[in-house]
Amino acid sequence: MNIKNLVIWALRLVAAIIMIQTLYFKFTAHPQSVALFTQIGLEPYGRIGIGVMELIASILILIPRTTSIGALLSTGLMSGALMFHLTSLGIEVDGDSVLFIYALTVFVASLILILFYFKQILTMAQLLFKGKNPFSALMLIMALSLASCSNAQNKTTMTNNSKNKLYSTTDTTPLKVSNDEWKKNLDPEVYNIAREKGTERAFTGQYWNHKELGTYRCKACGNPLFKSDGKFESSCGWPSFFEPISPTSVKYAEDKTYGMERVEVMCGRCDAHLGHIFDDGPPPTYKRYCINSVIIDFEKK
Ligand SMILES: [Zn+2]
Repeated sequence: MNIKNLVIWALRLVAAIIMIQTLYFKFTAHPQSVALFTQIGLEPYGRIGIGVMELIASILILIPRTTSIGALLSTGLMSGALMFHLTSLGIEVDGDSVLFIYALTVFVASLILILFYFKQILTMAQLLFKGKNPFSALMLIMALSLASCSNAQNKTTMTNNSKNKLYSTTDTTPLKVSNDEWKKNLDPEVYNIAREKGTERAFTGQYWNHKELGTYRCKACGNPLFKSDGKFESSCGWPSFFEPISPTSVKYAEDKTYGMERVEVMCGRCDAHLGHIFDDGPPPTYKRYCINSVIIDFEKK
């Protein structure tokens, strides 16, 4: 076995083993994996689908005759993953940076494998796209995968309030509406938190790790609640703010459920349950408004 073969085998093993680790995260519904796919609106099928593709890619990479196809597939998958980590999730969060390094390592290993197999890939492309320029075919495949990635990302900021007739970004009059009326207008998961004081699972919401600039509104009525500059990074798994937009944008109530003494935070306009407030926040207020992602709507600046 010469050095070139040794290097190729090492790259195959590195790419496949790390990819098996990341697909294991997807199949076991690792919280950060779930959070990412919830954020791009593709949970759970997108997560499982990508997991299956990673499984196929890692098997193809390990079989010498199909390494080139596996490397092409994993390069595409990992460039998508890197894009999401760099744009919507950020890379500085503890567990997140591990996933980012995984994706980067597999990406680099696959890219080097592609270089080793470049002649074979070109011949393959020539056979597939007879008569056409193989380079343009490769460019086409890359453009398609980039387009599908950015398409999925647009879903991040897309909000659907067409069904909710009680939602308004201009009306500020207090809303006193029966629960039956709320039920007709809210999605079941929003109703559960707003009217039944439910709580979403930590690290599963859309906004716990959201960093774009803009305004967070009440998902039930449209009332502006928090601004991105009042949000801070907390490791609790829910969006955390240290101050509301104005003193009247939220209301407070004592909450003694589950044997705990907590202060509940509600929407100042419609009384929807939003979350709780704690005294362990950062300066200047030292408060932590721990809010469910499901009950907030983000409006980009
Ligand atoms: Zn509200």
